Amino acid sequence: MESPAVTFTLAYLVFAVCFVFPPDEVRSAGLTVQSLLAAWLGSEDAAFVQYHLRRSTGTLLAHSLLPLVLFPAVTSALAYYWSRKGWNNHPLARTLAVHALPQSGWRAVASSINTEFRRIDKFATGAPGARVIVTDTWVIKVTTYCLHVAQQQDIHLTVTDSRQHELTPDSNMPVQFLTIRVASINPYVKAFDIRLNSTEYGELREKLRAPISNAANVVIHQSLSDLFLETFTSLVEINQTYSVPSTQELEPCIGCMQTIANIKLIKNCQEPNEGECQQCYCRPMWCLTCMGKWFASRQDQQHPETWLSSQVPCPTCRAKFCILDVCIIR
Ligand SMILES: [Zn+2]
Ligand SMILES: [Zn+2]
Ligand SMILES: [Zn+2]
Repeated sequence: MESPAVTFTLAYLVFAVCFVFPPDEVRSAGLTVQSLLAAWLGSEDAAFVQYHLRRSTGTLLAHSLLPLVLFPAVTSALAYYWSRKGWNNHPLARTLAVHALPQSGWRAVASSINTEFRRIDKFATGAPGARVIVTDTWVIKVTTYCLHVAQQQDIHLTVTDSRQHELTPDSNMPVQFLTIRVASINPYVKAFDIRLNSTEYGELREKLRAPISNAANVVIHQSLSDLFLETFTSLVEINQTYSVPSTQELEPCIGCMQTIANIKLIKNCQEPNEGECQQCYCRPMWCLTCMGKWFASRQDQQHPETWLSSQVPCPTCRAKFCILDVCIIR
């Protein structure tokens, strides 16, 4: 027979472990440090750095209250010390100060991060204990107790490892996780590792200004649409090019509003009256990436082998075209 003390101890251990490493069920029931302290933490979107100053301190305190760790007095003193002078003593303030210009302090860095975190075009992924956030200037990894912060212009990234996980319930493809080492030329920034699903690799690369080298020669299983986009681009690059009349001004692509339109559809695949393709008379309105995404979106998702040989309608006038008809403007 088990004694009540053993049962209680076991139950308590389970509770403590779930509190420190919350599984999804516990998370969705709201039993995490983040949700219990929500009112004090404030909003991550409104002030990212201030939120994580409080979150890391609160997490350390809450975990130390569990007898598993047994240091509540020490951590309370530490938390009090950290919070003095507007959090000046917190390790995160020191992490940020490394990036500050001589005449400004860590708060200037914090406000840059806060502003960029609020933008919707940031890259964000990962489980709550190992989140990765990439903004225009910053690469940030959020862990349970701390934040790693590096500046995009200082870093080089290397794929160091990949792990294949077999079928997950919500997908029928094996999942590949990549480990990427982020190293900074700033001697005060320690290198750190980020992990992400290989299907997010294309999106990460788009957000980064530095290239990612592949030390481990890992074959990266990108998402189907990323792979298609690469193939589409390389095929279009060997097509005939088109030069616009010098009087014609090119406008930003109406798909992304980021790049200048650089695609003109010209029926080159066959003679004018032959085949299924038609001549499009639209002025250039799209960029290569958006045209590739449009082309992919009009395909039979179950039969990727037919994608390269099919015709799709021009997004504006609906005239049919194929890959051979996509001309880059030079
Ligand atoms: Zn575009
Ligand atoms: Zn058209
Ligand atoms: Zn054609």
